[in-house]
Amino acid sequence: MIGDQVTYEIHRLNFGSVTIDESMRLRGIAPGHVIDVPAQGFLVLGGPGPVLVDAGYRDTAVLGAGGSVGPGQTFEEQLAAHDVAPGDLSCVIMTHLHRDHAGHLDKVPLDVPVIVNRSELGNACTGIQGRAYALDDLHHLLDRVYTPGAIQFLDLEQSGPQEVLPGIVCHLSGGHTPGSIGIVVPTSEGEAYLCGDLFYDVEGALHSQPTGTFTAGVQPSALVVSDPALSNNFTTSVVEEIGAIKRALKYRFILPAHDDPGVLESGRYIGRIEGPVVPGPITPVKTDR
Ligand SMILES: [Zn+2]
Repeated sequence: MIGDQVTYEIHRLNFGSVTIDESMRLRGIAPGHVIDVPAQGFLVLGGPGPVLVDAGYRDTAVLGAGGSVGPGQTFEEQLAAHDVAPGDLSCVIMTHLHRDHAGHLDKVPLDVPVIVNRSELGNACTGIQGRAYALDDLHHLLDRVYTPGAIQFLDLEQSGPQEVLPGIVCHLSGGHTPGSIGIVVPTSEGEAYLCGDLFYDVEGALHSQPTGTFTAGVQPSALVVSDPALSNNFTTSVVEEIGAIKRALKYRFILPAHDDPGVLESGRYIGRIEGPVVPGPITPVKTDR
């Protein structure tokens, strides 16, 4: 608690790795080198009941280039490590519904609501990104649509930000996919922004940017805000993606699904949290990066 405001701890869950081409993380990286990144969810504790944000992938077969689920990384095991069973969850909030995020929703009882931005499910069902959304995940979500109480829709484009639990506010992201959302969670050390796939590499996006050469002889970083580096995986426009990232810079912590949480101070990236919980110890950015 800070004053009357409830604060939360955010625990990182790892539902297995996803193999991607490294060039997906940042524009400008040459393709042809594959890496494994974690498919993370987050367990938000400190409120009336545990809240899950995102739910990994159902099976490596749905992934484009594969992945692997290591020991202790099943959906049930990741929750059980915090003494939580799927039926104990207050709700599951989805940043978006891609195949590496919506995979285990069918393991959550139907009386636990899944909170989804309506346009994200609508877009997914048009096939606009093909197999980036898994057919079985969409089947399950449609089962929820036809089961009273099993799904709760946000309409963030129309409503503006929505508080879904005390202090936890969902915002339209504006990046990654048109229906993606970001979830703001108050912690004892500032607000955390659970941003889905708006970032794949927070440090690369925010730290290694050239500061530009706006005016000869004048230190440009004092004059302009550098554009962030973008990922190679978004279906919004470039300007929308840049805007979505800039809106994220006001938060203390940025928690992407496939990278360590980033830490910001006055809008500047200062380091990452490599440990399992946010807030937690900060590893400062290397100044020579
Ligand atoms: Zn993802």
